[in-house]
Amino acid sequence: MATVILHPGKERAARQRHPWIFSGAVARVQGYVGHGDAVEVCDASGEWLARGTWSSGSQIRTRLFTWQADEPLDIDLIRRRLERTIIGRAAIGHEAGNSGYRLVYAESDGLPGLIVDRYADYLVVQLLTQGMAARAEPIVALLAELVRPRGIYERSEAEVREKEDLPPGEGLLWGEEPPDTIATEQQSGSFLADIRAGQKTGAYLDQAVNRLRVAAYCADRDVLDCFCYAGGFTVAAGRAGARHITSVDSSAAALELLRANVALNDLATPIEPVAGDVFKQLRQYRHEGRQFDLVILDPPKFAHSQSQIERATRGYKDINLIAMQILRPGGVLATFSCSGLVSADLFQKVVFGAALDAGRDAQVIERLTQAPDHPVLLTFPEGEYLKGLICRVW
Ligand code: SAH
Repeated sequence: MATVILHPGKERAARQRHPWIFSGAVARVQGYVGHGDAVEVCDASGEWLARGTWSSGSQIRTRLFTWQADEPLDIDLIRRRLERTIIGRAAIGHEAGNSGYRLVYAESDGLPGLIVDRYADYLVVQLLTQGMAARAEPIVALLAELVRPRGIYERSEAEVREKEDLPPGEGLLWGEEPPDTIATEQQSGSFLADIRAGQKTGAYLDQAVNRLRVAAYCADRDVLDCFCYAGGFTVAAGRAGARHITSVDSSAAALELLRANVALNDLATPIEPVAGDVFKQLRQYRHEGRQFDLVILDPPKFAHSQSQIERATRGYKDINLIAMQILRPGGVLATFSCSGLVSADLFQKVVFGAALDAGRDAQVIERLTQAPDHPVLLTFPEGEYLKGLICRVW
């Protein structure tokens, strides 16, 4: 097996069990290494640190799997990690009547580069590193054995695969072809997911708990759900007895799923789906003097790299400012950011700036994060990306 030798002084993160070795930390590689191969990692003096998989094309040159010298990086290690996550998820799994959740969250579950989402009887996998792509076959066999799904479908995010010099990965890997939409039961409602063509792997599972938290403020309220996608928050708000819900998204396909989800949940609340750009639509409502009791802002990731953080904060400020302006006094703003690069602290500062400019008093009444099926490994804080504030706005 090849050995990756680090530059002097570059071993600290690996010693603290951070799972990424960046290309800049690598001094040289001893021996031949192919795409995705297992490698040993040593510090500049030759002392063994960890074992991981090699990514020839990526800035993150090695993903670490084990810090135990006597633990080989083989399929048995992957089996043990999978068994561990299955046990860890049991409480939020099928047993609790929940059939849509993230079963494996990559680095955070000790399986760098592997995401597995469960949609009832189907699994959707993302193989996002050369190491995982090279082990696709045994991983799929393990998932089939341990979870016994009907089918396993790949939806690897193309942009991430590209960074790894991997071709796009999509299609059936095992078992039966999934139907066009799959119904899952979640605590906040029943949801149809389109795992072939929907966003992400088909749904935004990370907001599952937050939908219930926001729903708690929706009874008898006039709700505006911005960036609604397939209606995750809309359905939760409707089931909680909202008076009226306006749901805005720029994607026609998303609104079609939203309509189907509204029908599936038999909601009594009138729902008004609006196809449009939230930035424009909010201005339109402000211009018309239209007001709401509760506004949800759940935009897509605005910051994809360090250089986009400033632009992202301007985007967050803009929508939060207008949302506060169109809220009735005493209304509720549920505002989110899924940009990992925007810290919770920075996000709160942006919302503070928006309140100041809107001339409104805003109180944080709840702080939200990603659902428990997206755990955060303490040695890998990058795994935490979703943050939300529920504010009372006067
Ligand atoms: N709230 C959703 C998830 C939102 S994901 C849920 O709970 O499931 C972000 C959504 O924003 C996507 O559906 C995307 O289509 C939409 N979107 C992105 N940019 C937009 C824009 N400028 N205006 C309106 N919708 C937008």
